[in-house]
Amino acid sequence: MQRRTLALVAANALLGAAVVVGVATPATAAPAAAPVAAVTTLTYDDTQAQQYATNDAAAAAIWNTDAPNVHIVKATRGQKVNIKIVADPGWPHTTLGPVRPSTSVQIWFGKQAVDEGFDKTRIIAHEMGHALGLPDNRTGLCSDLMSGHSAPVSCTNAHPSPAERAVVQRNYSRLAASDAPLTVVIQD
Ligand SMILES: [Zn+2]
Repeated sequence: MQRRTLALVAANALLGAAVVVGVATPATAAPAAAPVAAVTTLTYDDTQAQQYATNDAAAAAIWNTDAPNVHIVKATRGQKVNIKIVADPGWPHTTLGPVRPSTSVQIWFGKQAVDEGFDKTRIIAHEMGHALGLPDNRTGLCSDLMSGHSAPVSCTNAHPSPAERAVVQRNYSRLAASDAPLTVVIQD
């Protein structure tokens, strides 16, 4: 009896050791690094819209924060200009993008909308939205940037909605970074 008990104890001890060895977690491979989104840098020039320079810079900063796949910076002398902003006496309008580093679009920053009381930073952020490939979306909602002047004149929201951001992020995702020439379509 005693020998048998000892044998059992020894067997159990061995089994216990075997089990401990058995549950050791296999060395798992380090998780694959998340793919780094390719940031597309676009330049803008507003030397012909100086009176709106502060609004242009504010709108560029908003897009850089809200859609990090694209980075809009002021062009330096001699640099290719992707987004040319000019002051215009009429209604704001823009060549529809998405603009690429090798292409360029123009924004006519229309004074008529300013005179009607629309927020200047919202106007230029909206027009930059066109340059980044967003069409008008007349929902009348202030929360939509591309609703433009269908939203109340009191609306000062200059940030794209989550849905608008997602479209621009897609337009400048690694997959979409083609340099196909733009078809010229004007959006107001
Ligand atoms: Zn528009």
